[in-house]
Amino acid sequence: MNAHMSSLKADLHLHSTASDGTLTPADVVRLAAKEGYTLIALTDHDSMDGVAEAMAEARACGVMLIPGVELSCGAQREIHILGYGMDPQDEALAAFCRARREQRIARTRRMVDLLAEHGAPVAFERVAELARGVMGRPHVARALVEAGHVTSVSEAFDRYIGTGKCAYVPKEDVRVADAVRLIHGAGGAAVLAHPMELKMGETALASLIVEWKSQGLDGIEVWHPSAQNNHAAFLHRLAREEGLLVTGGSDFHGQDLHGGRIGDGLERWREVQSDAQRLMERIPRGS
Ligand code: AMP
Ligand code: ZN
Ligand code: FE
Ligand code: FE
Repeated sequence: MNAHMSSLKADLHLHSTASDGTLTPADVVRLAAKEGYTLIALTDHDSMDGVAEAMAEARACGVMLIPGVELSCGAQREIHILGYGMDPQDEALAAFCRARREQRIARTRRMVDLLAEHGAPVAFERVAELARGVMGRPHVARALVEAGHVTSVSEAFDRYIGTGKCAYVPKEDVRVADAVRLIHGAGGAAVLAHPMELKMGETALASLIVEWKSQGLDGIEVWHPSAQNNHAAFLHRLAREEGLLVTGGSDFHGQDLHGGRIGDGLERWREVQSDAQRLMERIPRGS
């Protein structure tokens, strides 16, 4: 591990077909390797199903891969907690992901019903075909594009399935404390994903983060495309004051979607070496 640490190029937030990315886990790893990344993490929504395939490809490509996950928390507000370094075989985490997968299927059925009521019918079966792993709104969005109701995924979110829109259905609430406990129980570290996507003022955000830290949160994703430079500076300061880990990730979902480039927003991550080192020290199973 340390031999490679001197020339790190890292992206710790990548999605694959195990959730709503468009590339397979192996293809994500290959693309990252081709672009010179040396430390990556696969962080699919509510699933570690892609990790084994990614791990095998990472070995073949000579890339360090941290097993990861991105757990959806919150109900009215989407709060995403990244987990790093968990045992993919951990039974409690696997059971949680299985339950979430089932809940997401039921939720998608409800969204499909609402879409029909709002004059934009899509077949649930088609959405299920588009979802090769855990089902999510991007699969519904792609079905809406295919059916000709919208011309882009982002229009699908803006008009129908974005938070609070007419066919939006929230996921069942999961408490941040419970997500953190699951991640810790599986040997991982818990990091708040893209804090700026919470769309809160700095004071309110800081006090929430401090509260989550008291529940075991280990770090914050300071470097993410959603964080403008002034936001990142604020998050970085907060992490230092609170002794939280700092991570960075592009939230890559495949080249044709938002989050379309590995490393997006991470050019500014100067302390990648020491930040990654601290994260690796926190998780027993690095790569
Ligand atoms: P879900 O987990 O089913 O609630 O879907 C959330 C995912 O949808 C996010 O992780 C993004 O990949 C995607 N997403 C959310 N908002 C938008 C948007 N406005 N445009 C495109 N994709 C989005
Ligand atoms: Zn996603
Ligand atoms: Fe997220
Ligand atoms: Fe993500």
